[in-house]
Amino acid sequence: MPDSSPAPSAADIGTDEEPEQDIAQSPIPGLAAAVRVQELNKTYRPSGKTPAKRALIDVSLEVPRGCLFGLLGPNGAGKSTLINILAGLVIKSSGHAEIWGHDIERQPREARAAIGVVPQELNIDPFFTPRQLLELQAGLYGVPPKERKTMGILGALGLADKAEAYARSLSGGMRRRLMVAKAMVRNPPVLVLDEPTAGVDIELRQQLWQQVRALNARGTTVLLTTHYLEEAEELCDRIAIINHGRVIADDTTSNLLAQLDSKDLTIVVDRALSEVPPSLTEFNVTLSAPNSLLVHYSVNDSPVAKILDALSTAGLTVIDLRTEETDLEDIFLQLTRAPADAD
Ligand code: ADP
Repeated sequence: MPDSSPAPSAADIGTDEEPEQDIAQSPIPGLAAAVRVQELNKTYRPSGKTPAKRALIDVSLEVPRGCLFGLLGPNGAGKSTLINILAGLVIKSSGHAEIWGHDIERQPREARAAIGVVPQELNIDPFFTPRQLLELQAGLYGVPPKERKTMGILGALGLADKAEAYARSLSGGMRRRLMVAKAMVRNPPVLVLDEPTAGVDIELRQQLWQQVRALNARGTTVLLTTHYLEEAEELCDRIAIINHGRVIADDTTSNLLAQLDSKDLTIVVDRALSEVPPSLTEFNVTLSAPNSLLVHYSVNDSPVAKILDALSTAGLTVIDLRTEETDLEDIFLQLTRAPADAD
């Protein structure tokens, strides 16, 4: 949820020593957006036989402070490109991006300090314990020992009792949480999770969701990429859908779902058809099988009686009728069905 409360302090995670305010945590007064992206473009240069690729096209987005934001899109949509630009790993072609009020181009150090990225791959040295790994990470980032929050972070991610276990003995879910813990070492106000539950079973997914919610409740703004619609629907306050490098939807999850007053009606008729009968063309009808018509309609229009009349005008007898409520998956499919522009 967007919030206007003060930035989360290091104390929110709990410190091993005296808590101190992290510089990256101090927002510019009045800052409402944790991440602001304006007219961002990225074209990957051609290499060998691979032509140039426009991976991001005029992308503008705002991630409100305190939000749990989902960046949703099919494979190849441009999600990783966007987060890699924010993380300073990919250079944008044009446009602007700010993290916690810091421009990634003009203030790269501050911008990078404000964002923690949890990559998809589990790259954890199996011979260290979680406590050692976090201490090492803190050392790498120059977090002074007094400001380290190793045990607090492990506790927040449900790993306190595994602090001294070798990482190789941790379960897959624990390793993923340890990756999140590593990204939290600097207590960045913005945490990016790249496909946090890709390939994770349902039970582990629920656990991870719980941890992500808990971090968000402590004040961390979370931006996650996912291609699981259920994940976005369950977890995120706001969702942007990206497809072929363009943002095609950007709204609160509840508004996106409220748009979905539509239903699908499947009508099985008594004979095979070669095309949609003329009496039905005024409705959004397609032939889903030779003897089956799929009608997509808005609940508010209540057209079912008219559709049945039109079927009778066409001399068709209805054998079976099935309706299905649409969900985020339907809007996603509807929006992402659009063909790609020529690159
Ligand atoms: P997503 O994370 O949504 O799967 P990506 O950002 O990885 O999408 O990719 C967006 C598009 O850019 C894809 O067509 C992909 O093939 C292309 N792409 C990604 N990285 C590179 C690269 N380093 N060089 C060339 N093309 C790339």
